[in-house]
Amino acid sequence: MSTMLTISAREKQSIPQGGIVIQEKPFVFILSSKYRTERCDFCFREGQLSKCSVCRYTYYCGRSCQKEAWAMHKLECQYLKAMSPRILPDTARLLARLMKILSKGGNSVKSYYTEKDFRTFKDLLSHYPEIKNDKSRMEHLSSLYGVLLDFFKGEALPDFVEFTGMYGRVCINSFSICNQELQSIGTGVYLASSIVNHSCKPNAVVTFEGTVLFMRALEVLPCLDWTQVTQHSIPYLVYIC
Ligand SMILES: [Zn+2]
Ligand SMILES: [Zn+2]
Repeated sequence: MSTMLTISAREKQSIPQGGIVIQEKPFVFILSSKYRTERCDFCFREGQLSKCSVCRYTYYCGRSCQKEAWAMHKLECQYLKAMSPRILPDTARLLARLMKILSKGGNSVKSYYTEKDFRTFKDLLSHYPEIKNDKSRMEHLSSLYGVLLDFFKGEALPDFVEFTGMYGRVCINSFSICNQELQSIGTGVYLASSIVNHSCKPNAVVTFEGTVLFMRALEVLPCLDWTQVTQHSIPYLVYIC
């Protein structure tokens, strides 16, 4: 799989207030199903839409979005058609897409946050032990696994342990994709951007244009040392949404 991410992070130079710290396309994303018939499944724009003629499940604002979306959508289209008119729950669709991406070489996709430092999906924290000991999360996980077994019609899926790792990485690291009115319209996993931590005193903010994430500085950020961030997981940058 070719690299699907563009990123511009600043290294060892100060970032002005409002300046872009990271700009990144999602590794995997979904449009919330409640906007399925109102927004383009690829760019999330509203307006005149046309359906995928095969599954009649996804809607697009035009030919170019449909064409760009096809690399991902071709991996789910036949299954969405088979389950019609039922709707796949959002988390299940995100995990279904993730499984397909990983099975097509997605583990080697790198998202750079400096010229030489990158993260892959496996670098995201999975919080496996906490999830394993959380009864309600494990129940949710088992039912999701059942939904996906049904969705993929008995195709071989990752085993339950591996699935738990995927679920953990997605739950802990996903961003709510908001529109300009700060309405959540989708969910995405952004590999490089997930290096930051939450804080009650944030110094950066995350906004979206379509599905592209922009992390901007809320104050002048002096000389970021990204190497320190990776090596010691120092919560240097934080975001709010
Ligand atoms: Zn579109
Ligand atoms: Zn389709």
